[in-house]
Amino acid sequence: MITHDLLIIGGGLAGMRAALEAGKNVDVAVVSKIHPLRSHSGAAQGGIAAVLDGWAQNIGDSLESHIQDTVKGSDYLGDQDAIEILCNEAPGDIRVLDRMGALFSRTDEGRIAQRDFGGHSYARTCYASDKTGHILLQTLYEQMMKQRVKVYPEWHVVSLIIHKNICRGLVAYDMVRGELQVIRAKAILFATGGYGRAYGITSNAHANTGDGLALAYRAGVPLQDMEFVQFHPTGLYRHGILITEGARGEGGYLINKDGERFMERYAPNKMELASRDVVSRAVQTEIDEGRGIDGHVHLDLRHLGKELIMSRLSQIHDIALSFSGIDCTVDPIPIQPTAHYSMGGIPTDVDGRVPGFSGLFAAGECACVSVHGANRLGGNSMLETIVFGRRAGIKAAEYVKKTTLQPMPADALPLIEQKIKLMINNKGEENAANISVELQSNMTLKCGIFRDIDGLTQMQQLIIALKERFKNIGLRDWGMTFNTELIEALELKNILDFSQIIVAGALAREESRGAHSRTDFPNRDDEHWMKHTLAYQGGQGPVLDYKPVIITRYNPQRRVY
Ligand SMILES: Cc1cc2nc3c(=O)[nH]c(=O)nc-3n(C[C@H](O)[C@H](O)[C@H](O)COP(=O)(O)OP(=O)(O)OC[C@H]3O[C@@H](n4cnc5c(N)ncnc54)[C@H](O)[C@@H]3O)c2cc1C
Repeated sequence: MITHDLLIIGGGLAGMRAALEAGKNVDVAVVSKIHPLRSHSGAAQGGIAAVLDGWAQNIGDSLESHIQDTVKGSDYLGDQDAIEILCNEAPGDIRVLDRMGALFSRTDEGRIAQRDFGGHSYARTCYASDKTGHILLQTLYEQMMKQRVKVYPEWHVVSLIIHKNICRGLVAYDMVRGELQVIRAKAILFATGGYGRAYGITSNAHANTGDGLALAYRAGVPLQDMEFVQFHPTGLYRHGILITEGARGEGGYLINKDGERFMERYAPNKMELASRDVVSRAVQTEIDEGRGIDGHVHLDLRHLGKELIMSRLSQIHDIALSFSGIDCTVDPIPIQPTAHYSMGGIPTDVDGRVPGFSGLFAAGECACVSVHGANRLGGNSMLETIVFGRRAGIKAAEYVKKTTLQPMPADALPLIEQKIKLMINNKGEENAANISVELQSNMTLKCGIFRDIDGLTQMQQLIIALKERFKNIGLRDWGMTFNTELIEALELKNILDFSQIIVAGALAREESRGAHSRTDFPNRDDEHWMKHTLAYQGGQGPVLDYKPVIITRYNPQRRVY
């Protein structure tokens, strides 16, 4: 049987950063359902936030300001001890990435260039043109190869083996060889990324189906703050593909059908660079109240000039041209909000440990530390993958060094084999793709930017009905080799499970905070709702509980931009 000390599920930025750190001391392997270089991290465009000493003081920036902006951005739901670590450790981590060979864009004087980003008080987002994630992913992969970390690419994890809350290993579907494999390990670190694919319009890759969340939930881990889903204001109309906040950071602005810069009415100080929840609601309100153009508004970059666009936003130029036929040096880009980021996830402490379990760790977008609270600031997510990926890697290595391998339950593999066989041989009439489309389009409508009791209740009932229909799906591919239909069905099961949690959390939370906006409860209610949601698996769906927010130095204030 394959055995490693530590298994990392996920080869994105968080997984690889953790592997590099842990791999110095223990036997670590990365299991990834797609090749690591195809992870969604590679799609990140705009940049990674950090206050770089030596320069920050010149523009008035400080670590304190980054912390304050992040706490305010989180609408005071972020845990402040974790936020302080995120911001304080950022400069050191950027230096490490730079030394590893990450090609950050530079100023004429040779400094790492930094641009403005939404919700940040100063230009502190380090970038590599508009391909920052791609560059960082390549850099970490090269380092991982140099360190000879074992990778299992195109191995799809289908189940965890956890007994008495102690990790023993996992079962993965090796797609190329068409086999189910058990891998034993002393510890597992989740780095499985986000879940944007629960929504019809999303900036997320097809692989972002929240598998890690569903696996952890079924193993008894409660999921935290799942109702907080970030909608990015500028998705390409109809496609949802991201047009980076960096485009507004470079000076692009938003206009409605009358050519009005409408952000003046919503965030007079920060305008287009207010935080994402604020700008997304503004864009959607313009569209809903008839000031959009056929369901979209415009992002105008023309005044930036061709030279700047082609040097700093060339990918945006490509995307608009390839998918919408728009040359953004000549015409404005049609945009609408797009489901983008999951603030919630697997709860961890500041060292990536999942409370209540031995040998379980999580980092990156699938984790909820929680540094983003109710709304994440741009540039802080890649930063989270690097800072907390490193920290979790260190602690996971320490853990496995002082632990022994636990015995495996004999039925781990047969149970999963039986489930997969049942799914493949089921001759039902339902089709996974149809169920997905119905779920996704309704999540956008009923559990999207604006929510209310009626829409959420309907969504809750629809998910129960879709789960019933799921039992009756029939696959047309009955083989085991590269069965993508099987993968889609497994992913859909995950999406159905955690969508139910998003809706349950959103229905219960009778207030508006950050990305969670209830039209029937329009105000933030600190007295009753200044707390994190925890959703446990129950017999009839999620069972909710709550835990306090960690406040160190910043008391909640009214949030205006
Ligand atoms: C279009 C776009 C642009 C963005 N731009 C920025 C930006 O400019 N700045 C910023 O800070 N943030 C940005 N973000 C957010 C940020 O990129 C992500 O939050 C972050 O990169 C996630 O990294 P990760 O390592 O947690 O997950 P990912 O990079 O998503 O990797 C997840 C990994 O998990 C693996 N996996 C998942 N399920 C399984 C399974 N069942 N079995 C085996 N493996 C599995 C996948 O194979 C993959 O390797 C952007 C996000 C998007 C979508």
